[in-house]
Order: sequence, then structure tokens, then C-alpha cells
Amino acid sequence: MGLIVQKFGGTSVGTIERIQKVADRIIQTKNKGNDVVVVVSAMGKSTDVLVEMAKQISPNPSDREMDMLLTTGEQVSIALLTMALQEKGCPAVSMTGWQAGIETEGIHSRARIKQIDNGRVQRAVDLGNVVIVAGFQGVSSEGQITTLGRGGSDTTAVALAASLQADLCEIYTDVVGVFTADPRIAPLAQKLDRISFDEMLELATLGAGVLHPRAVECAKKHNVKLTVRSSFSEEEGTIIEEEIDMEKGLMVSGVAHDDQVAKVTVTNMSNQIGTLSSLFTTLAEAHVNVDVIIQSSYEAALTNISFSVSSNDLDRTLEILKLNQEKLGYEDVISEKGLAKVSIVGAGMVTNPGVAANMFKVLAEANINIKMVSTSEIKVSCIIPAEHTQNAVESLHTAFGLDALEVAVVQG
Ligand code: ADP
Ligand code: ASP
Ligand code: MG
Repeated sequence: MGLIVQKFGGTSVGTIERIQKVADRIIQTKNKGNDVVVVVSAMGKSTDVLVEMAKQISPNPSDREMDMLLTTGEQVSIALLTMALQEKGCPAVSMTGWQAGIETEGIHSRARIKQIDNGRVQRAVDLGNVVIVAGFQGVSSEGQITTLGRGGSDTTAVALAASLQADLCEIYTDVVGVFTADPRIAPLAQKLDRISFDEMLELATLGAGVLHPRAVECAKKHNVKLTVRSSFSEEEGTIIEEEIDMEKGLMVSGVAHDDQVAKVTVTNMSNQIGTLSSLFTTLAEAHVNVDVIIQSSYEAALTNISFSVSSNDLDRTLEILKLNQEKLGYEDVISEKGLAKVSIVGAGMVTNPGVAANMFKVLAEANINIKMVSTSEIKVSCIIPAEHTQNAVESLHTAFGLDALEVAVVQG
């Protein structure tokens, strides 16, 4: 007997039939004597549909109205799931983010959770209800409705679990756990029974969309017991936990990819103290998230600086650079779209030299041109042309010994 937070993603609540199945699973958990708090995403691809509708009205809608629009998706699914539970005789109540006391920063579209006043949720649980909370949303101290960034319902679930001191937080999705690579593009990917918070955080940050990176960060910080598993089967999922025995762990435990990458090169900036600072401060002030950075000088006075950004941010980046050309004092900007970042991640890398060299060799043998590189103690990332993503992921998966005999199945 304990308190369990369960989160169901878009595919898991994508149809009325699936909502009924989710309700059955919640009742099963409740009947085992647990209190249950549930977080749900919007049904199926409905968030994407809302984004598309907004685009038809404005190429650049205001962030406040986007949040107002997107939060309606989760409001639909919490109400329907609660009705399904009530219909099956299980006392339940739905709550939006603000009703559940989720207070965020006042930034729209990517707000962080500041604190949770869980009084209303706890009281409803104490009265015997299953509480169904809308994922991905909160309210700022000024009373504005905010969202946490795409995929943010995972973070709602983990933050609620931390706040309620839940015994377990289960993320139910359309795959049976965390795999050694995205099973949609690497059919030989295998499910990991366990993975450390640090490796999972790297994988998620580098594009493994199965968990929102901030959910992993929050689980690590508050020591939340976290699992990822399928809503479509009873199979045990993946446990995400503190460092497992590194000596026994795999050298590389996963391959991640992100195929929405663009590269920008600013040419002939004056090469002096403060050059990088002025360029990247200008971009940071405009909330552009810069990833890999390379500086190269071919003569002392001038320098070229290349960096990568998400392709969604490319137009804005170019606009900001153009507006600030005089202040920054560069000659030209060159940009390249259609790139991807493939990364290998593993805690075992720290103690194994030559992993990066091996990765470059594998990509060279697959005839893939590497455009940029970035490394840390537990990952190596290469930026490559996006059309080679699948080949790169599969080649690395094989070369680092991750292939399994069983073929992973993806529902949805
Ligand atoms: P949900 O709507 O349940 O939040 P998501 O689509 O956000 O589901 O996340 C699940 C998807 O994450 C899977 O269908 C899979 O394609 C993708 N994914 C990417 N990398 C991985 C990985 N390493 N392991 C498992 N799934 C992954
Ligand atoms: N519905 C939101 C999205 O599609 C949040 C989530 O599903 O986690 O990004
Ligand atoms: Mg998700």
C-alpha cells in the first residue's frame, strides 16, 4: 500500500477505447490498496493539431495565446478519463495544472515548475479519489497559464511524485521501456532493464524523446523512484535509478539522435577578448539555445565561429544576427539546414579511452561526413547530414555491441 503516480502519454489516451483501458489499469492499481494520482497528456496528436491550427492564423502567434490554446488538449483528456473512472464506479476528480497547485515561472511555452502546493490534490486523495491532473501545464504567480515545453507531462508527473512523496512514479507510453536506441528507427534496439539517471538525462537531452529531460533531472534531484513502461502490455519496464555498478555497466548504453539540427557560421569576426561573449550573449538574450560551438581562426585578427541550433530556431537566429551585424562586427553568415546529431552515451566511457575515435571510424566506414563534434565524460555527439541518421544510428548500435536478437515492437 502506497501512493503511486502514473503518467499516460498521448498514444495511451489516443482513443475512447484506450481511455477505457487506462481507466481499467488505474482501477487495478487502486484495488491493490494504493492511492493513485494520474497525469495525462492530450489525446493522440491533438497538441500537434492545435499547433497547426494556430499556424494557419499566424506565422508567429503570441506565446501567451499558444499556451492558452495548447493547455486545452490536456483538459479534454483529464475530463474524459475521469468520466470513464466514475462510470466504472471508481471515485475520481480531474484537476487542471492551477487547480493542482502547480506554480511555474512566468515564461510561456517552456516554463519551469517553481513549486507545487499539493493541498487540494492530497485532500482529494485522502477522500478516496483518484486524482487526474492535466500534464504539461501550470500557472505563474501572476496568474498566467503556462506550459512546460513539448513532452512536459513527464515532468508534471515526476514533480507531483516528488511533492507528494510518492512511493513510485510510472511513465506509461507506447514502448515497453527505454531502449538502446529509438526502436522506431533501430529495429535491433533492445530494452534496458535499468539505466542510471545520468545516462538517461544525457539520452533524453540528446533526443531520446521517451522521457522529458527535466523529468529525469527532477527525479534525480528528489530521488523519485521512476519507471518507464508500456500501457499496452504487462511487461516490466525500465527502472531509472542512481548509478549502477559502473564496472559491470555497458561502455555505451545507448545511441540517441535528433534530426532537427541546423548549423550557422559567422565569418570574419574580429578575434579579440569578448568576441564569443558578445555573440552568444546576444543569442541568449533572444532565448536561442545554442548547442555545439566551434571557433577557428585562419589569421590572428579574424575568426570564424560555427554553432548548431535546433532547426526550429534557425530563422530567428539569422534574424537576430542580421539585426546585430554592426554591433557584432562580422562579415557574413552562412547557414545549413537538414542536419542531425547522433550521440553515443554511456557511463563506462569515462574509463575507456578511444571511444570517440571508434565512433568516428564507424561513421567514416559508413561513408558519413562529420560536420561538428562535441564530447563529455559520458557522451560523444557528431553532427551529420540528416539523410544518414538511420544508417549512423544502426551502424553505431552494431559497432558498440548493442544489437539484440529480439525485434522491438512499437505500438501506436
Ligand atoms: P508519450 O506520448 O507516451 O509521452 P513519446 O512519443 O513522447 O510518448 O515517447 C515515446 C517514443 O519515444 C517512442 O515511441 C519512441 O519512438 C521514442 N524514443 C526515442 N528514443 C527512445 C529510446 N531510447 N527508447 C525508447 N523510446 C524512444
Ligand atoms: N501534450 C504535450 C505535447 O504533445 C505534452 C506531453 O504530451 O507531454 O507535447
Ligand atoms: Mg512524451
